[in-house]
Amino acid sequence: MTSCDVINPATEELLRTVELTDVAGVDAAVARARAAQRVWARRAPAERAAALRAFAAVVDAHIEELAALEVANSGHPIGSARWEAGHVRDVLQFYAATPERLSGKQIPVAGGWDVTFNEPLGVVGVITPWNFPMPIAAWGFAPALAAGNAVLVKPAEWTPLTSMLLGELAVAAGLPADLFQVLPGKGSVVGQRFVEHPDVRKIVFTGSTEVGTAVMAGAAAQVKRVTLELGGKSANIVFDDCDLERAAATAPYGVFDNAGQDCCARSRILVQRNVYERFMELLEPAVKGVVVGDPGIDGTEMGPLVSRAHRNSVASYVPDDAPVAFRGQAPTGPGFWFPPTVLTPQRGDRAATEEIFGPVVAVLPFEDEADAIALANATEYGLSGSIWTDNLSRALRVSRAVEAGNLSVNSHSSVRYNTPFGGFKQSGLGRELGPDAPLSFTETKNVFIAVPAEEETP
Ligand code: NAD
Repeated sequence: MTSCDVINPATEELLRTVELTDVAGVDAAVARARAAQRVWARRAPAERAAALRAFAAVVDAHIEELAALEVANSGHPIGSARWEAGHVRDVLQFYAATPERLSGKQIPVAGGWDVTFNEPLGVVGVITPWNFPMPIAAWGFAPALAAGNAVLVKPAEWTPLTSMLLGELAVAAGLPADLFQVLPGKGSVVGQRFVEHPDVRKIVFTGSTEVGTAVMAGAAAQVKRVTLELGGKSANIVFDDCDLERAAATAPYGVFDNAGQDCCARSRILVQRNVYERFMELLEPAVKGVVVGDPGIDGTEMGPLVSRAHRNSVASYVPDDAPVAFRGQAPTGPGFWFPPTVLTPQRGDRAATEEIFGPVVAVLPFEDEADAIALANATEYGLSGSIWTDNLSRALRVSRAVEAGNLSVNSHSSVRYNTPFGGFKQSGLGRELGPDAPLSFTETKNVFIAVPAEEETP
């Protein structure tokens, strides 16, 4: 197969046919990237900073085009897609400061001077999933470029279009040719070749825990650096002392954003038993009020699932005898639609333990703080989560006790470009975003310079 059809998930119409990169194409791209990286790394820091700011400005001038393309390719609501494109600009702007701030250290030692340098790795391969094509690519490419590397991005097969456009915008912004290349292709071909190619010095992989594990194992053969952002089954913990109305009103948006195709989806709502009934009464109108429909219309809150195959996978978690508490609405007719769905399974049920990656949430009661923490942690994942309580001490205790990388008290926020993001346990390895991300695209080099002591004068 040398090409792949890209389908609009809201209409099932063919959007475009994309040529797929083969192994020889990857090898040629790596060779060009190596040459471009050497030139890039030699450029003055201020010049590299200016180039990244120019890239951000060109992205800013194309927000509407990028957003419309994501609506068509991924079915994201237009408001979300605009935010995603704007986020790429913000990530580029944030890391545009890096080239001029990536200072090493001067360490006091005996017999001379000691200094450290943050050397770029060389060529970095970024492998992205289909759920947030633009932001996730930017979390890899922006800090990697800023730290002096060349970047190759392999977008997911279903959603390559906005990444391809970002590749064109980089060239339009004046970034050196071949420094940043987007290579659409199959995971088993392009992604696999990134892992195997000796001149790709680091892999940033975002996707399933299953494939991430294989990428890490493959990278081990060359002691290749990896950052992994993998799956999640995050808990939204609702204590009886919280603002229950707000907790219930916001819970749908903590899990159904992007139709639940979000690694940070709070797909388990844990509710203290003495407020469980009342919470469910409040949750029902909130779920039924989620606006599901044409993603191109302002005000739509949830679009379709990304593909027919993925809708089938999500639907397998809601068989005819599933413990459905209530469901929201979804259009009928063409498109991969699935209504917001609330289940009340047992703790060990598949719907309560596996990542569904769709608009399906499991609500589970708990007894007390210790039970809530144990239940939240009873998963191999540890990416995100929310804690609803008006008791400050409890908020702090539970935040420290939940084994997850990104927690939010009395809200559902997970991602800010200036704060670190990543998972505990099988949700990942390493951190993206925040002030330290560029360091994960460098090697620390230590240089000792012997300086003979001054001869003593009598
Ligand atoms: P996936 O693992 O199927 O694919 C991810 C990427 O890996 C794709 O580009 C795919 O082509 C590529 N790939 C597949 N086989 C490969 C191989 N053998 N070698 C190298 N690359 C290969 O995941 P998906 O279905 O695209 O995305 C959904 C998953 O991503 C969910 O589990 C979700 O939780 C996770 N995710 C995690 C985060 C995070 O930041 N933690 C963010 C978004 C999505």
